[in-house]
Amino acid sequence: MIGRRGLLQSLPIIRGAMREQYLSASHQSSTKAVAIIGGGVAGMSAACALAEAGFRVRLVERRSYLGGRANSYLHPGVNEVIDNCQHVLFGCCTNLIGFYRRIGALERIHWSDGMTMIEPGAEGKPGRRSPLGPSKLGPIGLPAPLHALPKMLAAKAFTRADKLALARAFRALLRPIPQDTTEDLASWLRRNGQTRGTIERFWRLVIASALNADLDSIALSYAAKVVRELFMNSAEAGRMGLSTVPLSELYAGAAEFLRGRGSEVMFNANVESAVWDAGTEQWRLATRAGTLTADFLVLALPFEATAKLIPQMPPADGAANLTAQIARHEHWPICSVHLWFDREITDLEHAILLDRELHWMYNKGRLQPWRNLRGSYLELLVSASRSFAALTREQAIEKAVSELREFFPEAAQAKLEKAAVVKEVRATFGVPPEIDAARPGAVSPWPNCFLAGDWTATGWPSTMESAARSGHLAAEAVCRGIGGTRDFLEPDLRPRGLMRWISQRDGK
Ligand SMILES: Cc1cc2nc3c(=O)[nH]c(=O)nc-3n(C[C@H](O)[C@H](O)[C@H](O)COP(=O)(O)OP(=O)(O)OC[C@H]3O[C@@H](n4cnc5c(N)ncnc54)[C@H](O)[C@@H]3O)c2cc1C
Repeated sequence: MIGRRGLLQSLPIIRGAMREQYLSASHQSSTKAVAIIGGGVAGMSAACALAEAGFRVRLVERRSYLGGRANSYLHPGVNEVIDNCQHVLFGCCTNLIGFYRRIGALERIHWSDGMTMIEPGAEGKPGRRSPLGPSKLGPIGLPAPLHALPKMLAAKAFTRADKLALARAFRALLRPIPQDTTEDLASWLRRNGQTRGTIERFWRLVIASALNADLDSIALSYAAKVVRELFMNSAEAGRMGLSTVPLSELYAGAAEFLRGRGSEVMFNANVESAVWDAGTEQWRLATRAGTLTADFLVLALPFEATAKLIPQMPPADGAANLTAQIARHEHWPICSVHLWFDREITDLEHAILLDRELHWMYNKGRLQPWRNLRGSYLELLVSASRSFAALTREQAIEKAVSELREFFPEAAQAKLEKAAVVKEVRATFGVPPEIDAARPGAVSPWPNCFLAGDWTATGWPSTMESAARSGHLAAEAVCRGIGGTRDFLEPDLRPRGLMRWISQRDGK
């Protein structure tokens, strides 16, 4: 039986409100100054949490805008504001959602319950569609993990043998996978009799693409986490969220939030070195925009930028080990092709494109109706593909348009008005087996200095959620630095239905 508090906590909106009350009730204000280096999701979420706790925060960013890798900009070639790439979140991203709630960005997220797989069509015919996602049984949904089963069983994209193989795999993933497993996803799929159809159309396209790496470069524990969160734990956890505004606009609320609490954002301020003054117990930072001092420092940087800064910091026990940890990380690319047509190509908001080089289609014209387009604007995504990243702009556009016509024959009649290609070679870090040993926690080798960034020890893959978690963990560590305790980390969504019982059985 669940108590009143338990019942209330299972409702996300009420839970958020209760948490806010709890935070203000235990408000411990501090006039200590914190410099946070890096204005990505990790730095912004740490900064906003600490500003709310009463610290004087300076968020120091080398570029002229916030968002880090999740940014948008006016592309001069097409004269349109585009995201450097479509960024999606899911209902299970509780820390990112908590951060959005804090800065007032949550209402700009459009939620969508399902995904649609599309096969390439033949001879000008549209490809078959297979919707995936939760099903309802009357007014109430099916209990998790059965909620996703009916659509999976009905999916035309999978043969009977594929469906049996997927059922076997999902059943196996109901058992806990140790976080420190040394097995990679490819070998586990072979061991669990996965068919070619499931490997190509589900494991590679949905799971490996969410983790942005090849199947044999993904630790089984991370793949299992994605499957559980997106398809098993609850319908709410698997909901997909997409911003209705460009990413930089979404994150602009963070700067307003900070200024409203007496904190500040320094742009165009690349931090070049950090010196610890043991006498004053303060950090002195040399930035391109001048020098600044702070009682606490949070390095909220990608791993390669952290590695670049370490030699410009004081010698410390543990610094060499941190450098060695960083050396084990590897980048994976993501490419996006942005196409504007003179007419509508599809009524879908987004789709998973099967059996071709393109992986995902996002219908930006529909997702962002304020664009008021005469025709349509589609963003097509290719994850973890080094060969696509090697194509020239012209080759990438030609490939994208010709593949698009196979899925949506309307594209063959439409006139392509303009196009842009964005290649992010350092989009994400990989999560191969044993990577957790190379992900440091918030405590750094230096005094009053803490680490954040999606690559630090959050247990999540390279995502905005991992970045937001790391920011909240670093903010908690700063509070401990003044002898306080603050609870910024948002609780995970509780599994629902049968998954609740299964998780309790497994002690999760
Ligand atoms: C193409 C692409 C697609 C993606 N798709 C998704 C997705 O769909 N969903 C999802 O959840 N995640 C996605 N990600 C991953 C996500 O963007 C990252 O995990 C997340 O944004 C990382 O945030 P961060 O704050 O840790 O790092 P960053 O965003 O890299 O922020 C670090 C900041 O530090 C600044 N900086 C660096 N050096 C210095 C210095 N010396 N001084 C001052 N500032 C400095 C940088 O300019 C940057 O603003 C995608 C990433 C890319 C690139």
